Amino acid sequence: MKKDLSLVEGIHDYVLRNSLRDSELLQRLRDETLQDRQSIMQVPPEQGQLLALLVKLIGAKRTVEIGVYTGYSTLCVALAMPEDSYTLACDVEESWTGIAKRYWTEAGVAHKIDLRLAPAAATLNAALAAGEAESYDFVFIDADKSSYDTYYELALRLVRPGGLIAIDNVLFFGAVVNSNVLETRTLQRIGEATLQVLRDLNNKIRDDQRVDLSMLQIADGLTLVRKR
Ligand code: SAM
Ligand code: CA
Repeated sequence: MKKDLSLVEGIHDYVLRNSLRDSELLQRLRDETLQDRQSIMQVPPEQGQLLALLVKLIGAKRTVEIGVYTGYSTLCVALAMPEDSYTLACDVEESWTGIAKRYWTEAGVAHKIDLRLAPAAATLNAALAAGEAESYDFVFIDADKSSYDTYYELALRLVRPGGLIAIDNVLFFGAVVNSNVLETRTLQRIGEATLQVLRDLNNKIRDDQRVDLSMLQIADGLTLVRKR
């Protein structure tokens, strides 16, 4: 029996038809993001819905978003949390997060989101210095892949025991197995060294006794890590 259903024709459409609960606003943000050359960076809708489900399951009220882009994953998570929730949102790019802020406002969740335009490691270290260790329920890691190990270690300090860290793009189009699957242009952009960061982190988490884990084949690969 086939263990990998992702290659069965039509299965992705079937999953969407039978599980996606979309909204006009989320659809509009996706459409606007599609105008950007780098729109592939946005999580797909079924992954946004999974993140929303996860934060509801763990009753999250305090989350960190590392890599905002046009704000889609942040929006999915903020919509799933209570009125008095808090999201520390990290990015460096004002033009993209300008789009994000427009949609957060329209969705009525802007007051829950604290956007910091600075390198994420600096923002997270500042949060730790301000006494916020183990005060977060959920961290989504989705910024520059070369810093993933740094983000993972910082996230482990920021989440409470029992808290969740979701790490995106852990399979990187399959290039963690074979970098030849990437177009030359994409491979040059990401670089072998950064792919190695992802491979090393995947290896490290497998044996990391500080956490429980599951690596999911959804979208571009998503590892879920629960801090022990
Ligand atoms: N989570 C977003 C979504 O699903 O729509 C996508 C995030 S995108 C893959 C990565 C983002 O990380 C970009 O918006 C980029 O500006 C940001 N970024 C890159 N380097 C960064 C850094 N050092 N600190 C914070 N953000 C960074
Ligand atoms: Ca991503």
